[in-house]
Amino acid sequence: MSDANLIQNVYEKVCQRNAGEVEFLQAVKEVLDSLAPVLAKNPKYVDAKILERIVEPERQIMFRVPWQDDNGSVHVNRGFRIEYNSALGPYKGGLRFHPTVNASILKFLGFEQVFKNSLTTLPLGGGKGGADFDPKGKSDSEVMRFCQSFMTELCRHIGPNTDIPAGDIGVGGREIGYMFGQYKKIKNAFEGVLTGKALNWGGSLIRPEATGYGAVYFAEQMLKTRNETFEGKVCAVSGSGNVAQYTVQKLNELGGKAVTLSDSGGTIYDKDGIDDEKLAFVFELKNVKRGRIKEYADKFGAEYYEGKNPWGVKCDCAFPSATQNEIGKEEAQTLLNNGCYVISEGANMPSTPEAQELYVENKILYGPAKAANAGGVATSGLEMSQNSQRLSWTREEVDEKLKGIMAAIHQQCFDTAEQYGQPGNLLMGSNIAGFVKVADSMLDQGLV
Ligand code: GLU
Repeated sequence: MSDANLIQNVYEKVCQRNAGEVEFLQAVKEVLDSLAPVLAKNPKYVDAKILERIVEPERQIMFRVPWQDDNGSVHVNRGFRIEYNSALGPYKGGLRFHPTVNASILKFLGFEQVFKNSLTTLPLGGGKGGADFDPKGKSDSEVMRFCQSFMTELCRHIGPNTDIPAGDIGVGGREIGYMFGQYKKIKNAFEGVLTGKALNWGGSLIRPEATGYGAVYFAEQMLKTRNETFEGKVCAVSGSGNVAQYTVQKLNELGGKAVTLSDSGGTIYDKDGIDDEKLAFVFELKNVKRGRIKEYADKFGAEYYEGKNPWGVKCDCAFPSATQNEIGKEEAQTLLNNGCYVISEGANMPSTPEAQELYVENKILYGPAKAANAGGVATSGLEMSQNSQRLSWTREEVDEKLKGIMAAIHQQCFDTAEQYGQPGNLLMGSNIAGFVKVADSMLDQGLV
């Protein structure tokens, strides 16, 4: 059977086994589509059925999460942890709390995480979890009770050398704190079982900043291949949470001009740029008041596009930092028509396959999510190292390491693309480089 046919067969089987799980199937197809030349060079992967094994999570856990709201009413949510692949290290990946969470979403995120973590150069397996709980509009006590109930079940499946969750959409410092407290109480163990912890109790400096900073460092590396910098570049950023906020901060530091932020209500466009002072307002608005981005427009007289994403504005660089599939074919075409030629993905799988195809065809500088946003999980890996040592590194030390990791990820993707005859195609480069390290480790470890 030809390698292309083999890949097609594997994909059809995945479709049968995971019928209707569109996000998961999209993520699997993207990786498989890059792998034909790898199989051609490495028949050992075919013989050992690596593709068939790598698409199947090692373990999936699904559980009931009952909790009580402030009025005493009982609610039941569904919790998950997908322990996807442990060839390179303990399962590592975030927890997402969002009403859209289901098995498909978490399997796509877990699958992506395996290859992303492989690219970080650190010993991290891949996993993901979460719940279809909506923290929006809930009181602190409601969120705490939910987190405690969630961890009461999850704690039996995780551990500092087994599976180390972190945050993702809907899970930030507050939620990590409540979950850590509950884990410690049940297990009677103060250990590095979660990352994204606060500094006082085992967190790492730069972890909150890491995904956003990393996406900008990755774009900086891409620009460097054309002897360019961020100086004077207009940047569209989507989202207004942790990733978007620190993307804007780093862009400001490097001479770029961020002009947009968004949330589920709409987009703000500030043609003068979201400087550090205005960004401080966003930090307060989003992280403390948990308000809507529209308030930025009201406060600073910026434009507000209700119900719209930022992809219609003129920009040189785009940093999709909100959620999956936020850039479709049409949005991608508009970005390209408006002169955008750098896309660095802070969110997971923010571009549809059709959008990705346009980027590759047009040979723009495209940093796919599993490479460009790996700074978050990489710094989680650095938090784990500090926890094992029972030490804390300085801000400068962690930032230097993060910068080095992002440069190394870019180099791996760049070199791999070249090696496989598609110079500049970091989509292919990231998928292949991420895959090979996991596949080789699976071979080393026998049929498990
Ligand atoms: N949720 C982040 C990601 O998608 C971070 C995961 C982690 O730090 O474990 O990579």
